[in-house]
Parts: sequence; structure tokens; C-alpha cells
Amino acid sequence: MNGEITALLSRRTRARAAGLDGREQDVRDPRHDVLFEPVQIGPVTARNRFFQVPHCSGMGYRDPSAEAAMRRVKAEGGWAVVCTEQVEIHPTSDITPFIELRIWDDQDLPALELIASAIHDGGALAGIELAHNGMNSPNLTTREPPLGPVHLPVATWSHDPVQARAMTKADIASLRRWHRDAVRRSLAVGYDLVYVYAGHALSGIQYFLSPRYNTRTDEYGGSVRNRARLLRELLTDTCEVAAGKAAVACRITVDELIGDAGITRAEIEEIVGDLAELPDLWDFVLGSWEEDSVTSRFGPEAGQEPYVRGLKKLTTKPVVGVGRFTSPDTMARQVREGILDLIGAARPSIADPFLPRKIEQGRAADIRECIGCNICVSGDFTMSPIRCTQNPAMGEEFRRGWHPERIRPRQSGARILIVGAGPAGLEAARALGQRGYQIVLTEARRQLGGRVTVESQLPGLHTWQRVVDYREQQLRGMPNVEIYLQSPMSTGDILAHGFDHVVVATGASWRRDGVGRWHTRPMPADGSPQVLTPDDVMAGRRPAGSRVLVFDDDHYYLGGVLAELLAAEGYRVRLVTPAASLSDWTANTLELVKIRQRVMRAGVAVETNRTVLRLDETGAVTGCVFTGAETPAGADAVVLVTARLPEAGLCTELQARKPEWAQGGISSVQAIGDAWAPATIAAAVWAGRRYAEELDAPVRDGPVTFRREVTALADGRPRAR
Ligand code: ADP
Ligand code: SF4
Repeated sequence: MNGEITALLSRRTRARAAGLDGREQDVRDPRHDVLFEPVQIGPVTARNRFFQVPHCSGMGYRDPSAEAAMRRVKAEGGWAVVCTEQVEIHPTSDITPFIELRIWDDQDLPALELIASAIHDGGALAGIELAHNGMNSPNLTTREPPLGPVHLPVATWSHDPVQARAMTKADIASLRRWHRDAVRRSLAVGYDLVYVYAGHALSGIQYFLSPRYNTRTDEYGGSVRNRARLLRELLTDTCEVAAGKAAVACRITVDELIGDAGITRAEIEEIVGDLAELPDLWDFVLGSWEEDSVTSRFGPEAGQEPYVRGLKKLTTKPVVGVGRFTSPDTMARQVREGILDLIGAARPSIADPFLPRKIEQGRAADIRECIGCNICVSGDFTMSPIRCTQNPAMGEEFRRGWHPERIRPRQSGARILIVGAGPAGLEAARALGQRGYQIVLTEARRQLGGRVTVESQLPGLHTWQRVVDYREQQLRGMPNVEIYLQSPMSTGDILAHGFDHVVVATGASWRRDGVGRWHTRPMPADGSPQVLTPDDVMAGRRPAGSRVLVFDDDHYYLGGVLAELLAAEGYRVRLVTPAASLSDWTANTLELVKIRQRVMRAGVAVETNRTVLRLDETGAVTGCVFTGAETPAGADAVVLVTARLPEAGLCTELQARKPEWAQGGISSVQAIGDAWAPATIAAAVWAGRRYAEELDAPVRDGPVTFRREVTALADGRPRAR
């Protein structure tokens, strides 16, 4: 290994000597003391101001044990209140295909009890978000006709071909009864805080509040007070049933962000002012879920402040709000300025379940800050257990026994070489370093971070660099990890050094031949228009002429981001994609509409349902994906965002030279992350963690490498034949 010892290592030495390293500090910053004051919420007391607001997990009724373990870790990490996701209160509130929790009848109680008791075990109050989703529930499982304020098609992402029926007075009476039953059941299984949910354009109550949907002419429609009647009734009922044994929270959208067509600031002031003292806690959210959980590409930390500021003075009850908070200074300021009483978090608590503890212990520098990518949300949209780019243990607490802060100590004195310091290599180094192994991490480039460092230079993606920052910060405190930058490793280098295990985390490169989803063999090209890959563009290469065609056959964020970048630089950009939408997969991260808006405003001409058939002297020939009708598209350059190939040469060569391993002391060589199979940054981080977890670990018997919940048969075991 000929690389120079890096500036990073000398920085590390300086930082520790000066006591700047977060690990060396263990005294809480007094400016953050305010965050650790207890808060009275009706009959219960939150031990501090950290409040994990309800958030989906993609686990719900299918994976309750996994959910319980995940919520328990949050409680252990210091959150004073830990809530469930929305819990459907009745079969007329069935939001299939989404997997949330249910409290339809007593059969659902064991799972809910397990979750509440796990939260209590961790030391937090347990909150339950009861929901009747109204015209957001298509009822695909139960086949019940959906319920709404008026006769209108259901408001679902999948545009289900079913209408909500206008609720009669009898329906409203039934809804009130179902809600009361759900409250009673929640108390019976130990919840300390019960929600009445009227937010996110997901709750039936919001459709009653909103003039966009509620055009009723009876006492439940018309004036603000009438539209809020159902909310008032449900809050009154909930308080009555809770009867001082649990706190009652009201979660409400403070602005629908559709102007006078929806709930406005003036209206919400009237509603909150009117119902001010009815609940024990107000939980403010903004707009629809897309707005409330805005990604870092489209909104900053604390972005909701202007919408929430001033509402607290309408009530004496405590107020919680969110804003992707990771800065304790911002949190403390919001409390001191009287904007919030409780610091709400979904994503920051997913990325770092131990965020409160770290602030409490004066270790704010150790916070694994949420990058605002919404990969967590994609779990819900794909009906798969929650995952997180920053926190690879998220969703693996029960399945694999992973913990966000702890890991088994090393089992041997093995020395491990990790080649490549992208997200996979960095996380492998961090987690193996934490286990206590001797680690050498080598990186060909001048900086750590691989694709993350490169991609975070693109418009709107700078927050993603936190994936690197967190790991770099942790590695600085590990004397058993040596890092070498500008140190490209060859097979010969590796064989010449005495390492027990070699991890190849060398990443992947974008293809230049157009192979991807559409073309499974190289795209016909006569060499006339200039061809650029995303790697070229990110490395600073630019199209020769002014007309650029971006072919997005990848369908995640990169095609749209590169089109935006080139348009901002003055190129005439056309984006062609075989998908029905630009950046199609970002529907799962709640970004689809915002990306389209931004790219259109940047002046990019977007053509969906079209592919690039071939490249020739006209530029590119595009074709309709349905009819095949061809159209020439003049272009001086084409950017191909199609697929990637693993940089697996090192691994392949090492495998081919296996007989030479023994003399270098090597016993295993493994490629991980994009070098093994290109995927998301989240997948690369997870692969790094998996390698570290499974090194020296006992192998689980059988093909399933994780624990899982298996549905119990309603009629018990079949009789043996
Ligand atoms: P992943 O997402 O799997 O972590 P990345 O592409 O982000 O992959 O990172 C891979 C890193 O490996 C890059 O920073 C790259 O410069 C580095 N790398 C690639 N080949 C070598 C090599 N032979 N020696 C050292 N570093 C390498
Ligand atoms: Fe934050 Fe992304 Fe993790 Fe979600 S997946 S918590 S947005 S880092």
C-alpha cells in the first residue's frame, strides 16, 4: 500500500487533543437543557420534550413483533413519547394495499398490546394514532363502501375506481361509536396517549374540515364551525372515554396549501381557537403527506416554522410539531421562542433512534442525521418493512437483532482490508471498527464517500453528504481504523499484504452502451452524437453542442436531477423516458410531483412513454412505447441514465488467484454494496453493516436468514392426513 497517510488522520489527532471530538465530551450543552424539561400532557408526564410522532413503518399488522422491537429501541434512545403509525379503527377504514395497524376488534389487541408494552419497556409513554381514513380508504380488503362527507371518488394514490358514499347522520353516529370503542380498546392494552387524527389528507376528519371536499348543506357542512363539528364530537367522545386515564391528542393539518379552496391559516386559527382546551395536546402537521414529509431536495430543516408559529398562543395545551429536526440548537430555539413545546420527529428518530440520548449526554456530534431522502417512506409505499439510508439497523431490530448503537465485540484478532470508501465501505469500516477489529480502509480518490460525495454536489442533494459526514466523524474516534486516501489498490497490492479478510467495496459505473430496462443488449449507435454517462457529467464533462437528450431508463432521481442541472447551465434539454412519469420511482418517496414541477420550470421538455431506439446522424431516434412510431430527435449529445455495472474486477481477480491467498494470510474475499449488485445508497450502507454483523457470526440454519412473523391459521393446525 503506497498511499500517503491522509490529512484525515492528522485532523483526527488534532481534534482529539483539542477535545473537539464528540466522544470526548460528556457534558450536556446548557443551551439544550430546556429540551430535557418534563412536559405535562393531560394526565401523563413526558420525561422530556422529545416526541416520536406517529409514522408508518411498512410493518403494521403483518409484522407486529418487528414493529414492537423497532419502537422499543426508540424509547430506549430517549424519546419521551413513542407513537404507533395510524391504526385503522373499523373495516370501513381499510387502506389496503398499505400496511398499517388495525383495531377493528379484539383480535387486533395482542399485537397492539405487544407494541405498547415494548415502548413502556424502553421507558417511554406509548401513543396510538387512531384513524378513520374516510375517503382515503378504498376498502379493497373488506369491500365495504368507503365513507366521505359527500359522494366523491376516493382520494387515493392509486385512483381506485370506487366512490365514497356521503355519510348519513346514522353513519356519523356509527363512526362516533367505532371511535369510542377504539379508544376503550387502546386504554385496555395500555396506551397512555390516544390520537384523534385529522391530518395529511389521509384522515376522514380532514375531508370534513376541508371546504374542497365538504360541500354538505347540513350542520356538518358550510361554516368552519360546522365543518369542525365532527372533529369536536370525536374529541369530546375520546376525552369522555379516556376519562383522565390517558391523554388525548389532536393531530391536524394547519394549512392544506391549496389557497382558499382548502383549509387556510385563518380557518385553522378559528378551529384551534374554538377547540383550544378540548384535547390535552395539539400535534400540527402541514398540508398533505407530501408536504409534511418533504424531502431535503425540496425543503429545509424546520421548514414548517412559518406555518406553525403563532398557533401555540391559541391554547394553553402543549403543542408538538415536526420539521426534520436534527440540530439541537434549532430545537431549543423553537421551544424558547414559544413555537413548540415538544420536538416532534418521525424521520430524525428513524435515522437516529438515540438522538435524545446523544444530546442529553453532550454527544450531539454523534447524531446520525436524517438526510431527508424518504427511503423510509418507500417502505410504506412498497409494503415492505421500513428501511433507512442512514440507519441500517432500522427495521432489522427483531428480524436480525441489529441495534442502532450496539454491536457484538470482535471474536478474533483478524485484520480486515476494506477497499473503497463509498457508503458500503464506510459503513463496513465503521461497524467493524466498533466491533474492535483492526481495519485498513483504502480509497482511490482524494475524498471519502464514493458516489455519495459525488452525487451530493448535484442540485438539491447536498444534505446526502451526511451519510459520509457521520461515518467520517465516527471513524475519527477509532484508533483501530486506518484510512488511506489516494490509494488505489491492485490485486498484487492486496496479495502482498497480510490481511485475514478482504472486503471489496469498489462501487459501480454507469454504462455507456444504453443497456438497461429497455435495451437488454447494447443500443444501436453509429457514434455520431456524443454519448455521456452520468459519471461523465458528475465528473464535470459537458455536452459539446447545445441540444442534449437525457435518456432516463433508470426511473429514480438521477435522470431528473441531471436534466435540471444541464438546463440550469443553459443547455436545451429534452428528457425521454419509457416510464409513464418522470423519475417514476420517486412516487415512493413522495417526490414525483415536485420533481416534475421543478424540471418543467427549469425548461426541460419531458417526453414520457417514449424510448430512445437508436443513435444516428440525426441525433437520437425515439419511439412510442405503445405503437413503436418513430420520431427523430435532434441532439448534439445524449446522456444515458440506464444501468450500472459493478466495479468487481478486483474481486474477480482475487478469486481467480485463490491459491495465492494463503501466503498473504487471506481467508476470505467478499464484494459488497454496488460492487456486488448496484442498488440504492441505503442498500450499500446496509450491505456494509451486514458484512460487519455477519463476520464471525453463527450461521442461521436454513434458507431464511432472519426471523419473521408467520400468520397463525384461524382454524388451527390441519389434521394430519
Ligand atoms: P458503494 O455504493 O458500494 O459504497 P461507491 O461507488 O459509492 O460504492 O464507492 C466505491 C468507492 O471505491 C469509490 O470511492 C471508488 O473511488 C473506490 N474505489 C474503486 N476502486 C478502488 C480501488 N481499486 N482501490 C481503492 N478504492 C477504490
Ligand atoms: Fe431520513 Fe432518509 Fe432515513 Fe428516512 S430514510 S429517516 S429520510 S435518512
